[in-house]
Amino acid sequence: MESGLYIVATPIGNLGDISHRAVDVLQSVTLIAAEDTRHSQRLLQHFSIETPTMAYHDHSDQRALDRLGDCLAAGGSVALVSDAGTPLISDPGYRLVRHVQQLGFPVVPVPGPCAAIAALSASGLPTDRFLFEGFLPAKAVSRANRLAELAATPVSLIFYEAPHRLADSLDAMIEVFGGDREAVLAREITKTFETIRRASLAELAAFVRADPNQQKGEIVLIVAGRIRREGDLDAGAAALLERLAQELPAKRAAAVVADVTGLRKKALYDYLLAAKKPNA
Ligand code: SAM
Repeated sequence: MESGLYIVATPIGNLGDISHRAVDVLQSVTLIAAEDTRHSQRLLQHFSIETPTMAYHDHSDQRALDRLGDCLAAGGSVALVSDAGTPLISDPGYRLVRHVQQLGFPVVPVPGPCAAIAALSASGLPTDRFLFEGFLPAKAVSRANRLAELAATPVSLIFYEAPHRLADSLDAMIEVFGGDREAVLAREITKTFETIRRASLAELAAFVRADPNQQKGEIVLIVAGRIRREGDLDAGAAALLERLAQELPAKRAAAVVADVTGLRKKALYDYLLAAKKPNA
């Protein structure tokens, strides 16, 4: 097998989700670097993989990086796995990938399960554009600040959430995004108690409070992006419209910008009227 670092995705619950290629690679490499070797041992035993393992996480010292580098320099190959899912996605590996690239060896993805993508694919929320936020800060003030920064983002927002923080995080999201914003709770994906529920944030908060079982297990939360309201303009179109309105009557300015941008003339005209009103 070609010398290099293989980034191997592993199941997020259902062991049947491992790929043939992942098993082949894990069987063939010289060494498996695992976030938690004891945790990964269960997976390896299940697939009768006897490759030696070593612990690797983002706080591993230079000696761990050197050992992995030496293995590659000797013509060997290394697989990186995390406890579940795709390594580096809210999991260790970033330093290692850069280190191996710097040493000049190939870094090869072996794609597979990822909780964020699995949740998004079954969410019923827009998938054309999305933002992966990972875990929110644990402290309430930092969490609220981060949510405020995301409030106007017009794409689906994907969060990983710890079960004991779920109810509080939903409350914080209601505070910032409003209780009507659509969201999806994706819990225990691929496992026995898999739950995928799309509802407003307010309904989801009531749902998890009414059933403590919903505050257990592994959780992805996806919140719909801010829907553009009638009259919302992107910064470029708004600037053009406002500048033209200084030279032309509002109707003419709206017509010209409508021609250039394809936006509706009436919406542009309404925007100018609203902009003229105090407190509009
Ligand atoms: N690298 C992993 C991936 O590719 O999804 C994520 C690792 S991160 C440390 C663990 C978090 O992922 C959990 O706290 C949870 O938010 C989410 N997660 C992992 N497995 C899940 C599952 N089966 N169902 C729902 N969420 C899951």
